[in-house]
Amino acid sequence: MARILILLAVVLGVFWWLRARAEARLAEHRARAARNASQRPAAGPADADADAERMVQCAQCGVHLPQGEAIAWRGLHYCRRSHLPDESQAEGGNGNGSGSSGARP
Ligand SMILES: [Zn+2]
Repeated sequence: MARILILLAVVLGVFWWLRARAEARLAEHRARAARNASQRPAAGPADADADAERMVQCAQCGVHLPQGEAIAWRGLHYCRRSHLPDESQAEGGNGNGSGSSGARP
């Protein structure tokens, strides 16, 4: 019986030791990452990724901008919302068609 208890204690001790080690390593990793992030606020690898982002051209004014900042609409890209084509003219509720006879009193 004592053997089982000793074995259990050893297993628990190893388990606890491994967990403490993993937590310490994780904390060190996080601290290092936070230090790196605070040392280089904007000019890090994230900035390089932003530079490598695909550039698209505004279909209205032709300015180039990253695809993440562009407004994609119907397969085209626009730099701002006001450069979207005015769709209310193209397909608005202009009911001047055929069947308008039944609604009037
Ligand atoms: Zn534009």
